[in-house]
Amino acid sequence: MKENVDIIVKGEYILTMTDAEEPVTNGAVAIKDSRIVEVGREDAIVNKYEGQRVLGGKGYAVIPGFVNTHTHAAMVYFRGLADDLPLKDWLEGHIWPAEQKYLGNEFVYDATELACFEMIRAGITLFNDMYFFEDASAKAIKKAGMRAVLGTGILDFPTVAASTTSEYFEKAEDFIKRYSEDELIVPAIAPHAPYTCSPETYKRAMELAEKYNVTVHTHLSETQWEVEEITKRYGNTPVKHLDSHGLLDSRVLAAHCVWPTEEEIDILAQRGVSISHCLESNLKLSSGIAPVTKMLQKAVRVTFGTDGAASNNDLDIMSEMSTAAKLHKAVSGDPTVLSAREALLMATKWGAQALGLGDKVGSIEAGKLADLVLINLKNPHLTPLYDIYSHIVYSAKSSDVETVIVNGKVVLNGGDAVNLDMEEIFYKANQWSLKIRKR
Ligand SMILES: [Zn+2]
Repeated sequence: MKENVDIIVKGEYILTMTDAEEPVTNGAVAIKDSRIVEVGREDAIVNKYEGQRVLGGKGYAVIPGFVNTHTHAAMVYFRGLADDLPLKDWLEGHIWPAEQKYLGNEFVYDATELACFEMIRAGITLFNDMYFFEDASAKAIKKAGMRAVLGTGILDFPTVAASTTSEYFEKAEDFIKRYSEDELIVPAIAPHAPYTCSPETYKRAMELAEKYNVTVHTHLSETQWEVEEITKRYGNTPVKHLDSHGLLDSRVLAAHCVWPTEEEIDILAQRGVSISHCLESNLKLSSGIAPVTKMLQKAVRVTFGTDGAASNNDLDIMSEMSTAAKLHKAVSGDPTVLSAREALLMATKWGAQALGLGDKVGSIEAGKLADLVLINLKNPHLTPLYDIYSHIVYSAKSSDVETVIVNGKVVLNGGDAVNLDMEEIFYKANQWSLKIRKR
């Protein structure tokens, strides 16, 4: 008697991203409820299990879902609104005024649906979000069937989201309490940056993170302006500044880290801080190029983030991974750095670890939650095939993603986001864009 499972996913190559470097060839994954039951050779799996649904087969690669470790999902509605500007002018002259005018539950819900659609299509199953009105985000994400870590943004000045630092904290704590047991949403706390949050605010965020056992999501050392400003205000460069107040530990995920000094890279390594490398955003805003090779050499966990779509301008981890793997070879003058397998680890398993979810997702192994992606290899740009890691990192595109499974459920089926009304998403985005354009 065969054991019944919900889904059997077959792949010519299964990249488990466990310690086993060799892909499972002609393999299969058995999935029941939300979890992976077994991974192995296809013949062994189909002899043992009866799948209600069978997906993939020859010509497919199966990989863990991509993890986007830094984004502001709802900012998709500001995509292309103000390009070709430095970060400070872009934020203060365009993004913050537009947010002040339009942000609210309806905006965030509608925009996050679009962001989820875009990310699912790109094979992203888990993302780390920092924004406001996170209840609305959570609602859209759960509808899409995605997984996300949501950190309510904290600032020391008023916005439409809150008028005092304390009000931001009240909202953040309330959100954490309400989502602590959710299947798909993991709450976090997100002090925005050292130039918008005092050390006292960071301290309060760290205390809250400790109390509820959640991660801390922040921007850090993004631009030279930030380095100068923090040095002027506090007498230390940004990483040293936070560290001097005891505000860095393994709960912290720091986005960007473009300008850490050698000494600061050592601090990040010692404290176990994870980095979200947002290369395309840093390139587009001319913020600089993060010393990723040095950070990796010193065993800092580096992962990939898209940042918001207003500074990228898309939510695509495959393109981040591919660009980063090539760019850091050029920057370091060493083509052996950031190998294809290492880049894929950064985009999957290490991303999950950085968000405190390494024991639940990020690799394909029995017992883990079933978040995985099928890539169609029957494409001219993926032919012939000598090395599957090389293909996924250097040749494949997000348009090759065919099926996406999150928490054991199919959420993308041949390009269709099964839980979302795609026509309605396009309609709403167009309606909002007419308003935003008029501002
Ligand atoms: Zn950001």
